[in-house]
Amino acid sequence: MSENYATVNPCSMCMPMGSVMAFKGIEGCMPIFHGSQGCSTYMRLHLAHHFREPVDIASSALSEKGAVYGGAANLKKGLLNVIQGYSPRVIGIATTCLAETIGDDVVQIAKEFQREEPHARDVAIIPASTSSYSGSHEEGYNEALKAIVKTLAKRSRSNARFNLVIGSIISPAEVRYIKSMLEDWGCGFDYTLLPDISETFDAPLAATYLKIPEGGTPLAEINEMANSRETLTVGGSVWGGGAGDYLEKEFGVHHTVLPLPIGVEQTDRFVGKLEEITDLGLPEKYERDRGRLLDAIVDCHKLVAGVRTAVFGDTEMALGVAKLLCEMGMDPRVIATGSKNAEFVRRGEGLTPGSEVLSGVDFSEIHEAVARNDIELLIGPFTGRQISKAENIPLLRVGLPNHDRFGASRQMVLGYEGTTGLVDEIANTIVEMNERDR
Ligand code: SF4
Repeated sequence: MSENYATVNPCSMCMPMGSVMAFKGIEGCMPIFHGSQGCSTYMRLHLAHHFREPVDIASSALSEKGAVYGGAANLKKGLLNVIQGYSPRVIGIATTCLAETIGDDVVQIAKEFQREEPHARDVAIIPASTSSYSGSHEEGYNEALKAIVKTLAKRSRSNARFNLVIGSIISPAEVRYIKSMLEDWGCGFDYTLLPDISETFDAPLAATYLKIPEGGTPLAEINEMANSRETLTVGGSVWGGGAGDYLEKEFGVHHTVLPLPIGVEQTDRFVGKLEEITDLGLPEKYERDRGRLLDAIVDCHKLVAGVRTAVFGDTEMALGVAKLLCEMGMDPRVIATGSKNAEFVRRGEGLTPGSEVLSGVDFSEIHEAVARNDIELLIGPFTGRQISKAENIPLLRVGLPNHDRFGASRQMVLGYEGTTGLVDEIANTIVEMNERDR
């Protein structure tokens, strides 16, 4: 892991930003940041540029006075404004660095507010502790998911449903794909998918503006997650202590964790687990998709073999893409993430001998690794574009954030179908690279 004490061009984002991705995936939820106003402005802009959707995030707008005397009054006023302006069913409170540093007890403030304000009694309030100096947006996302089930899931009568927790940030199109896969599988409504950003971050054009977008995981389903027979987390394999672990520890709901279904083997593991949970075989459509993925890999194998590639970005996404590159016969020489995570390093080093696996690094360190390893292709978020320009290496944009290209909400790299699209994109990028070099 990196031991630098200064970050130059970070390869990860703010912890509260990750919490927004979780909060916006539940029905009727409005997030508020307890801290200075700039934090919510920065993250609203960041997410709106990526998803090209309006993203409202309230702020308790702490000033110097709040920082010295405590921010309870500001937070209570902010919560009241949110209730009056947005009529939410749920409010997710994420703390920023300032609120954590002054040590405000947000859980206690929220309880007091609900006692004092009759308007607030029907609104669920979910506090999540997300100071950016203690983690990345990935940890903020996980922390918020855990806070959601901690606040809303209630033990009553056991049911036959299963929980599907999306353990790392994926696109709205990918969530839609997983849902349609479960429908094709005949799962009907027997599962709860958390968080469901399929509509909230990628809504159709509408004549009237909705302050809180439609969609998200229904609250009644989250209440029932404590009674489900099993939880499957996809994409949470390097982070422990998330929503699934909480449900297992508190309510005895059996928990399985899998990596993101990118590539042949990891998607096989995902569908294998679905077969086990549902006791139903893989629908034929997906058998054929699997065959098409293998065909796509065979088609381009001579072109892509041995291409030295640097993959960076979110932990699960970077590991999933690196695994696919191994399946394609490519050389993922550098695998990097901005989050600090020892399991990422262990898993990355196990993929292919000789790769440099870097965790907790910024883009200046990734740039050095790219130069050291004579990299030919970059795969990761648009934030790697400066390396691409400086080294004249193509960058295939995958993952969050992507501000300078359209369609980030509809990017699909999951499952047999999504991976096939990614294989084609990789091959075409290499074709263009070779043409340019000629
Ligand atoms: S690092 Fe802290 S202060 Fe800066 S934007 Fe993120 S949460 Fe706010």
